[in-house]
Amino acid sequence: MERIYNFSAGPAVLPQEVLEQARDEMLNWQGCGMSVMEMSHRGKEFMGIAAQAEADLRELMAIPANYKVLFLQGGASTQFAMVPMNLLRGKKSADYVNTGEWSKKAIKEAKKFGAVNVVASSEDANFSYAPTQDKWKLDSDAAYVHYTPNETIGGVEFNWIPETSGVPLVADMSSNILSRVIDVSKFGLIYAGAQKNIGPAGLTIVIVRDDLIGETIAGTPSMMDYKIHAENESMYNTPPTYGIYMAGLVFRWLKHNGGLVKMEANNVAKAKLLYDCLDASNFYHCPTAKENRSRMNVPFTLKDAALDEAFLKEAKARGLVQLKGHRSVGGMRASIYNAMPIDGVKALVALMNDFEKSHG
Ligand code: PMP
Repeated sequence: MERIYNFSAGPAVLPQEVLEQARDEMLNWQGCGMSVMEMSHRGKEFMGIAAQAEADLRELMAIPANYKVLFLQGGASTQFAMVPMNLLRGKKSADYVNTGEWSKKAIKEAKKFGAVNVVASSEDANFSYAPTQDKWKLDSDAAYVHYTPNETIGGVEFNWIPETSGVPLVADMSSNILSRVIDVSKFGLIYAGAQKNIGPAGLTIVIVRDDLIGETIAGTPSMMDYKIHAENESMYNTPPTYGIYMAGLVFRWLKHNGGLVKMEANNVAKAKLLYDCLDASNFYHCPTAKENRSRMNVPFTLKDAALDEAFLKEAKARGLVQLKGHRSVGGMRASIYNAMPIDGVKALVALMNDFEKSHG
């Protein structure tokens, strides 16, 4: 059976080579006679898999030694609560930037634990841009500053890292982690659900500067305490073993394919193909501000929403799936994460051009 081009926002396309390796190792991982799914998380085989995955991620992102890498569960949504529980550290409030649906959810959750100052928002323009830093009203006494570098639904991405003058910067990188080179030392904490650029759903990655952990608010459950996870090397309880294994294969794949420098160049090229097509047309419309267009999630609408169904049908006939926009936005959304080959984007552009000719 042919593989299709899957433009889902997540769970999303994985590299074919990774799936093939997982298939080949499914019944008998490297001669040990069992699947990774069947291994004890404390056995030497799995401990080796987890250690290698962490080492490869550290190398790929050049994560400094004073940062912990945690392999957790609960999705990015659990981080919306764990961040304030762990990082408020006796402070009264935290600063949040509101650039869309995911920021809003993070803000809503943080309000359960302390005061939240929304220091900048793009709600005035339907979350179509990222407010520049001169518009932010940062509080120098805030516990941390939280933002969403890539809003998966709105398709808005920051192409710069905020400067917070020593206040720890926290980023929900769920939908753009590993897609570009970033300087981890500029962040206090980075978190991401795995199901877009890392691996299967169920694994959540947290990268946190070690001096920020260990001072949770009263009543924080053990499972929500970064320090406990760090001290137990993410094995305080049974970790999502298969997800860690798959993430490790993806990290290997990234290393073999030029690392994040090459990924970023690929992603720039893929996004350019799509945005150039959108800009050249009066039939399609992209709602996001040019300077904040996401390289990962590209929302667009057709001139007439009544044509959406026909577009999706034609896409499906060509093996292009999951292009329907988020229910809150409508239209289309093409998610083009690391594992989406450039040929997939070319196929989408060809469809868009043909569809415009026949329906424009
Ligand atoms: N933040 C962002 C930016 C996301 O895209 C998502 C998932 N689409 C989430 C948070 C929520 O992640 P999860 O489903 O892993 O809780």
